[in-house]
Amino acid sequence: MALKVSWDSKVCIHSANCVKTLPRVFRIENGKFVIEPSAAPDDEVRATVAACPSGALKIEE
Ligand code: SF4
Repeated sequence: MALKVSWDSKVCIHSANCVKTLPRVFRIENGKFVIEPSAAPDDEVRATVAACPSGALKIEE
């Protein structure tokens, strides 16, 4: 089963690390931030979440 990733807009500092690192999963569509964890292998999603500098992204187990 694909991972679930949560995003806290109040915590995000908009460094855009996630959208640059893994644009298949983390992208802006029609001005909204979209997360599609199934678009990449779990380990890549986990690594990108772990690299978020603000802690806005979390894996929901
Ligand atoms: S990496 Fe984290 S802080 Fe940066 S834009 Fe993505 S969610 Fe926001």
